[in-house]
Amino acid sequence: MSSYPMSPLMGQMMSKPMLISSLIEHADRYFGKNEIVSRRVEGDIHRYNYTECHKRAKKLANAFAGMGVKMGDRIATLAWNGYRHLEAYYAVSGSGAVLHTINPRLHPEQIAYIANHAEDQYLLFDITFLPIVEAIASHCPLIKGYIMMCDRDRLPADSKIPNLMAYEDVIDANSEDFVWPIFDENSASSLCYTSGTTGNPKGALYSHRSTILHSYASSLPDGLNVSARDSVLPVVPMFHVNAWGLPYSAPLNGSKLVFPGPNLDGKSLYELFEQEKVTFSAGVPTVWLGLLTYVAQNNLKFSSFKRTVIGGSACPPAMMKTLRNTYGVEVVHAWGMTEMSPLGTAGTLMAKHTDLDEDEKQSILQKQGHVLYGVDMKIVDDAGKELPWDGKTYGNLLVKGQWIIDHYYKNEGGDVLEDGWFPTGDVATIDGDGYMQITDRSKDVIKSGGEWIGTIDLENVAVSHPAILQAACIGVFHPKWDERPLLLAVKKPGAEVSKEELLQYFDGKVAKWWLPDDVVFIDSLPLGATGKILKNKLREQFKEHKLPTA
Ligand code: AMP
Repeated sequence: MSSYPMSPLMGQMMSKPMLISSLIEHADRYFGKNEIVSRRVEGDIHRYNYTECHKRAKKLANAFAGMGVKMGDRIATLAWNGYRHLEAYYAVSGSGAVLHTINPRLHPEQIAYIANHAEDQYLLFDITFLPIVEAIASHCPLIKGYIMMCDRDRLPADSKIPNLMAYEDVIDANSEDFVWPIFDENSASSLCYTSGTTGNPKGALYSHRSTILHSYASSLPDGLNVSARDSVLPVVPMFHVNAWGLPYSAPLNGSKLVFPGPNLDGKSLYELFEQEKVTFSAGVPTVWLGLLTYVAQNNLKFSSFKRTVIGGSACPPAMMKTLRNTYGVEVVHAWGMTEMSPLGTAGTLMAKHTDLDEDEKQSILQKQGHVLYGVDMKIVDDAGKELPWDGKTYGNLLVKGQWIIDHYYKNEGGDVLEDGWFPTGDVATIDGDGYMQITDRSKDVIKSGGEWIGTIDLENVAVSHPAILQAACIGVFHPKWDERPLLLAVKKPGAEVSKEELLQYFDGKVAKWWLPDDVVFIDSLPLGATGKILKNKLREQFKEHKLPTA
């Protein structure tokens, strides 16, 4: 790994490796009675605490040792956010093996590809995903056994899945006497494949060190800001970049954890928020759409919910305002990616902003924000030249830091760094105070007559219209300008607006030449496995669309 020079006088502090097992040990010892509440796939609510979680994680670790799992071996999960998944997080990584969380929303063929590519040895899965496992088992010869996360009586009677075990049998058969091994903190701890909208997914392999550092940094007040006073409900799945690190940062801070299981609809989430006095949550904008629609339709309020982190795709300012002004929920807009563990930036104010008026504060908060200590960023032009931090000039966003990928698993894609920096594929501006704003994903930017049009701004304007629920902007062929913006919009149920009215609404809100050339109303937008709008699908679908200006 590193080959930095050593000083003749080295520091004399203990050299204790940063290991993931220490998080659950810490939570057991110092926050042992703090609760972990899960809505189970079985339908009921399960409730226990960090001490009991630690005991069961050690039983599972003993089970893996008995199965011959060695350090560095990959163990896969196909599971919702729940207590058994959390136990697997600690049992696998804590033993020195590698937790490979697979996104069940991928196509079974892609799941089999990923499991084979990772050379997974065992696969743990929730009952919901039995059909996926049945479909892939015969294509995954390396997997030695399957553990269904349930009691024995839920196992299918006539399954062809080889070596199928019930999770609770595995737990019951093993002792809780287990001492977490101590090893090099740079050892691999978990593996997560990128969403792979183009080409095959590539693996980001995290280490114990990168995970602990990310947990520390993401917990800071200008990051996720989670504490022992919080009841934390991660809506972001544990199969997508480790639920933004919350299964690690919550035990680090002793927060109560609330897992929603498979029920991510507005009603189920709202009930759990209220019952478990949730104060903090995190998720992608599409999840909040469902929750906010349910709360508005039923004239409800939140009694404990105070703060949420929204990221994964741009949070529309209109959503931020509704959460804050109507429901009193503070929104922290965050940005990151699988390759960054994931957190890079978060949008919070500084002391000097205290006296600004609400609109001025909002215009800062709607940016993706400031880097966390540990992450460095810059914007560059296509030739790699660094661009100014003036809040206007946009360029390719590059990052580096202790929890940012050096290369993909099995060196897929080769040397990806540019002079030691990771190219994010995002286009952004950075202002004089270091606030970063994403204008687009570089492959989504609309190139009109040699100039760039950022689609996020256009989408944000569209969804601030009272009749619009969701919007996506794509570039379509134009004989004179190469590409011009086409707006695809989904109306709110029962709402009406014409194409002309919607286009008029853009007047004065964006530069004139950014105005979409056309609007098409559609019933829904295609979403990918991580809740992002699939613009490549839309581009394909509308590639023949004839613009009225063409
Ligand atoms: P993933 O690796 O699936 O988490 O996707 C990472 C990508 O999601 C980033 O490179 C961005 O393009 C996008 N993304 C994440 N957070 C935001 C955000 N707050 N605003 C805009 N785009 C975002």
